[in-house]
Amino acid sequence: MLYSWRAHEQASSLFLSTRQHLPQQETDSVDNKQKQWTSSYPSITYPLKSIKVTSPYGYRRDPFTGKLSWHNGLDLRAKNEPTYAMMDGIVEKVGYDNRSGNYVTLRHGNYHVSYCHLSSIIVRKGEYVYPGIIVGVTGDTGRSTGSHLHLTCKKDGKSINPTILLKIIESI
Ligand SMILES: [Zn+2]
Repeated sequence: MLYSWRAHEQASSLFLSTRQHLPQQETDSVDNKQKQWTSSYPSITYPLKSIKVTSPYGYRRDPFTGKLSWHNGLDLRAKNEPTYAMMDGIVEKVGYDNRSGNYVTLRHGNYHVSYCHLSSIIVRKGEYVYPGIIVGVTGDTGRSTGSHLHLTCKKDGKSINPTILLKIIESI
């Protein structure tokens, strides 16, 4: 008993000393901040059963006008299928507009994740969500060229690339 406790103590002090020797710039990078944020959640899941990016975040040719324009989210292949909350959070907004169609916005701490072009919405404003809970069914409502999930992610109101989230999930 005593022996195993000592081994445990040694292991934890080793862990602590390793942590203390992490270079400063590594802990300050954006990627690590994202990891700190998501690691504070007990679990995190993909927003769909299978992930296939059909249009990346950033500048692209607008599918309607053919002109170069800013794409503020990530398009994922999805044909009328359930879409899931990725982390613990709360439903901040449920709505419809001509651009996003039916959409749901979830708040996870300082981050907001929106699911757009849904055919139906299952959650209600103010509801708590957990990783893997169904928030709605994907569709092609609003300004959409076919059934897909448009995912956006904002930190403190500023748009960020949702790929960061998917990469973190991939690395777990
Ligand atoms: Zn999109």
